[in-house]
Amino acid sequence: MSNYPSHFSSELLLTILSQATTATAIHSTDEMIIETANDAMIAVWGKDKSVIGKPIEEALPELKGQPFLGLLQSVLHTGQTIAGSDTRADLVVDGELKPFYFDFEYRAIKNDEGEVICILHTATDVTARYLSRRREMELESELQAANQELAATNEELAAANEELAAANEEMSSSNEELASTLEQLTVTNEELAESQEILKKLNYSLAESEARFRAVVTQAPVGVCIISAHDLMIQDVNDAYLKVVGRERASMQNRTIWQAVPEAAAVYAPIMNKVISTGVAFSAIEHELQLVRNGLTQSAFVNFVYEPVRFEDNSVKAIMIVAVDVTEQVEARRQIEAAEEMLRQAIDSANMGTWMVDLATDKLTISEQAEKIHGVTQGAEMTFTAALNLVAPEHTQKVSNAIEQAIKTKNSFETEYIINPLDGSRPRWLKTTGRAYYDDQDKPVSVSGTMIDITESKAYDQQKDDFISIASHELKTPVTSLKAALQLLDRMKANPSPQVLPKLIEQSNRSMDKISTLIEDLLNLSRMNEGQLKLDKTKFTIAHMLNQCCNHVRVAGKHELILQGDEKLEVKADEHRVDQVIVNMVNNAVKYAPNSKQIVFNVEKVGNMARISVKDTGPGIAPDKIVHLFERYYRTDASGYQNSGLGLGLYISAEIIRKHGGEIGVDSELGKGSTFWFTLPL
Ligand code: ADP
Repeated sequence: MSNYPSHFSSELLLTILSQATTATAIHSTDEMIIETANDAMIAVWGKDKSVIGKPIEEALPELKGQPFLGLLQSVLHTGQTIAGSDTRADLVVDGELKPFYFDFEYRAIKNDEGEVICILHTATDVTARYLSRRREMELESELQAANQELAATNEELAAANEELAAANEEMSSSNEELASTLEQLTVTNEELAESQEILKKLNYSLAESEARFRAVVTQAPVGVCIISAHDLMIQDVNDAYLKVVGRERASMQNRTIWQAVPEAAAVYAPIMNKVISTGVAFSAIEHELQLVRNGLTQSAFVNFVYEPVRFEDNSVKAIMIVAVDVTEQVEARRQIEAAEEMLRQAIDSANMGTWMVDLATDKLTISEQAEKIHGVTQGAEMTFTAALNLVAPEHTQKVSNAIEQAIKTKNSFETEYIINPLDGSRPRWLKTTGRAYYDDQDKPVSVSGTMIDITESKAYDQQKDDFISIASHELKTPVTSLKAALQLLDRMKANPSPQVLPKLIEQSNRSMDKISTLIEDLLNLSRMNEGQLKLDKTKFTIAHMLNQCCNHVRVAGKHELILQGDEKLEVKADEHRVDQVIVNMVNNAVKYAPNSKQIVFNVEKVGNMARISVKDTGPGIAPDKIVHLFERYYRTDASGYQNSGLGLGLYISAEIIRKHGGEIGVDSELGKGSTFWFTLPL
C-alpha cells in the first residue's frame, strides 16, 4: 500500500469497502481473525455479521479439511499473493453443505517495513458460471463423443458400403459365371449324351473287336500266349502256341507261364521281367530251346516276341508272346549250309575257281583260286570284258559264243580254252562251266559257274597222244622187221639157205622179244591204270634172283654183271615183278650207259628193309630230270638213243615197289654214272 496520507478515515474506507459488490474480507494474525467482511462476503459464506471478529476456523467450521486455511497461513508467512479461479469451496448455506465455485484472491497487505499486516480476501461466486460452463463442457464432450461415435459409425458404414459394393461386384460376376456355367452345363449335358452314345457304340465295337482279336489269336498260324503282367498268369493261349511248347490246354490254364513251361524259366523269366519293367519288346530269332514236349525233352528253334500290351496310363498290362517253331527251317538251312560248305571244300580241294558276271554292270566276281588262275592280284576289281581279253585270241570267239548260247538256251555250258595270265606267267588251259540266271521278267541277270586249270591234264593228254604215236612207231619197227624176215623165209621155204636161215630166225626172235616187251609194258600200264596190279609174294633169296636174270645181257657179252653185298638176304615179295624191275634197270644201263663195262648189283640190309641197287658208269642224269624219271611216259632226250623205250619202264617199276611198301630212287652224277635203287620189306 502506497504510503501517502489518506483523506478518508479508516472508518470511511471500511464503509465504502462494505458496500462494494465484490465480496471482500480482511483477515489478520495467525488465527486469521475476520477483521471485516462486507455483505457480499457474508452472503457468499451464507452466514451473518456475527462472524466478524471471529477466527475464520470458528466462523466457517466447514472449511476444516479444505485447503483454504492452509493457503491463508502460507500467504501470511510468505507475503506471496495466491489467487484461483473456479476453485471449489464447500460451504454450509441455509444449514446445508453445498459446493460453490469462486474466483478468489488472498492478497498480503504489508506495512512500510514489508511485514504482512493482514490478508485482503476477495471472492466472486462463479458457481453459476462455472456450473454452466461445466455443463457446456459436458455437453460439448458429449457432443464430441456423439460426433466421434458418428464418425466411427460413418466409417463403419463406409466400410460396410465398400464391402457391399465388393459383394455386389462379386455377386454380379458370380452371376455371370453362373450364367456361363449354366450354359456350359447345357452344352456338357448334350455332349454327355453324345459321348454316352459313342461309348455305347464303342463298347459294342470293343466287344466286337475283342471277339475278333480272340478269333485272330485262336486261328493265328503262329503261337500266341497272353500273360497278365502283374502275376504272369496265362490269360489266353491258342492251339498253335500249345503245339510250339508241346502242352495240353489243361496244363496251361490257371497257371503262370513259368509253372506251365518251367524248362524255359531260367533263361526267359528275367527277359520277360525286363520287358514288363521297361515296356520294351524283346524279339528272338532262332533261339534254341530245350522244351519238354508231351513229356519228351526236345531241342527246338523258335522265333518269338515278348510284346508289351499297355494300359491307357502306359503301364504294361500284359505280355503277348508270339512264337513260331522254325526248327525245320533251321535244320533245312543248316543242311544247305553244310552242303554248301562241302561244295566249297570240294571246289577248294579240286583247285576249282568260281566266277560270276553281273550282266548289267559287266562286273566279274571271282574266287581266290580263280584269281590265282588268271594271275590277278587278290581282291582287284575286274570286268568280264577284261577277263575275256586274257583268253588266247584263237579261243576268244569260242568262249563268248558258249556264254551267249548258254544265256539264249538256258542250258549250262562247258568250254576249254587257253588264257594268257595277267601276271605274264605261262599260258594255261582252263575248263570253264557255267549257266545264266534270270529275273522275274525272264531277263538274264548274271552268269556264273566254275573254272579249273587243266593245263597239266592237257599236257598229260598230249603225252598220252604222243605215247600212242610212239608206241605205234615202236611197235612198227619190230613188226616191220619181223614181217621182212617172214617174207624172206617164205620165199626160200622150198630151198632154204643154211647161212641165211638162222639169221632170219634170230631177227624174227629179236623182233618178237621187242614186241613182247612193248606189249608187256602196255599190259602193265593198263593193269596199273585199272588198279589191277596184283602181287604174288613168295620168299626168295635176292642174290639167287639176280644171278638168274638178265642172261640176255650176259650172253651178249658187252657188259659184265657183278654181284656184291649180302648174298643170303631173303625177302618176301613177288619175285617175277621184282625181276621185271631189275631187268628194266639193267636194260636202261645197257641202253643209256652203253660204254659202262661193268654193271654192279649190290644187296644190303638197311634196318628192316633190303636195299638193292644197279650201278652203271655211264653219262649220268641231270638233276632237273631226275625228279621226272619215275613219271609216266617220261623220257629224257630220247632222240639220242636208238633203243629208247616208251618212257614207261621206271614208272611201272616205281608202281611195283610202292605196291610192296618199298621205296625207289636214283643217285646220279653227270659224267660219273647212275645208281638206281629200291628197297623191299624183309
Ligand atoms: P624208257 O622206256 O624210255 O627207257 P624208262 O622209264 O625206263 O623209259 O626210263 C626213263 C628215262 O630215264 C629214259 O628215257 C632215259 O632217258 C633215262 N634213264 C633211265 N636209265 C638211265 C641210265 N642208267 N642212265 C641214263 N639215263 C637213264
